[in-house]
Amino acid sequence: MSAVILDGNKIAAEIRAEVAAEVKAMTAAGARPGLAVILVGHNPASEVYVRGKVKACGEVGIYSEQHAPPDSISTENLLHLVTDLNRREEIDGILVQLPLPPQVDAKRVLLAVDPAKDVDGFHPMNVGFLSTQRPGLVPCTPAGIMEILRRSKIAVAGQEAVVVGRSDIVGKPTAMLLINANATVTVCHSKTRDLPGVCRRADILVAAIGRAGMVTRDYVKPGATVIDVGMNQVTDRKEFERLCARNAKREETFRTRGSTLVGDVHPEVAAIAGALTPVPGGVGPLTIAMLMANTLRAAKLRRKIKSS
Ligand code: NAP
Repeated sequence: MSAVILDGNKIAAEIRAEVAAEVKAMTAAGARPGLAVILVGHNPASEVYVRGKVKACGEVGIYSEQHAPPDSISTENLLHLVTDLNRREEIDGILVQLPLPPQVDAKRVLLAVDPAKDVDGFHPMNVGFLSTQRPGLVPCTPAGIMEILRRSKIAVAGQEAVVVGRSDIVGKPTAMLLINANATVTVCHSKTRDLPGVCRRADILVAAIGRAGMVTRDYVKPGATVIDVGMNQVTDRKEFERLCARNAKREETFRTRGSTLVGDVHPEVAAIAGALTPVPGGVGPLTIAMLMANTLRAAKLRRKIKSS
């Protein structure tokens, strides 16, 4: 048996096309959705992420603007910027790219974002809406995972789901979405006893750990759906060989770049799972697609336009 590979690029493209069509209609009606991105300083990884987000806005027709305060900005000055964006009618979404420099009180800044414009879904108000099943904004990666399951017609209701990882941005909101979709959910973390045994109960296994290839075949029930959220850069040759042996394409990337991107799930799982998201090309592309969908949703909720 070999797992069906769930193509995140294809699903993300579908979502972006749907968002673009709605954005076009809203723009024609004089209500173009807008996203403001705040990127403090010059963190190279953050710069890449923000570039991708701004580019995606352009592609789906969402207005975007970037604010790039210096690394030395104070909490107070960043709060002024957020307050100004909160007030602006044409801005529907505010995204504060993390991490923030150490002198900035990140929690205060995230708390200052108007929950109605919180397209990352990190504000405690949106966390509360999610856990009480009220309309709100849901974190992008977990929302993307649910889209992969829904659009791949993988049943969730009544299924045993196991989420490995309990972070506020991935593990917990994913668990909450699965509960809301009527799965029976177990959340695991670094203190879980017999992790492979618990994972083997799963019909749907979500790995959001941040450890390259940790989920091996002994974690997986035959036929299970495995969602790999992990994004890990492997630079060590021995580790590369453990994970990517006999993969000529990977070998080429590793030789030329000195690293390759792998998930939390070992590739051997493809031989036993029923369905599997690859890395790259699985959950990753959904994150930006869902940011676009969230900005559109924020625009519709704020402007009281019904969802189509
Ligand atoms: P995180 O905040 O570091 O959380 C990791 C979680 O994994 C924690 O709950 C931790 O448990 C658990 N964990 C760590 N080692 C473990 C072990 N040996 N056994 C069991 N559980 C263990 O990470 P995150 O932000 O949720 O991200 C997780 C992964 O997803 C990372 O690789 C990240 O790069 C990736 N990611 C991808 C996307 C995307 O767009 N595809 C988006 C976000 C994140 P404790 O709570 O006990 O410490």
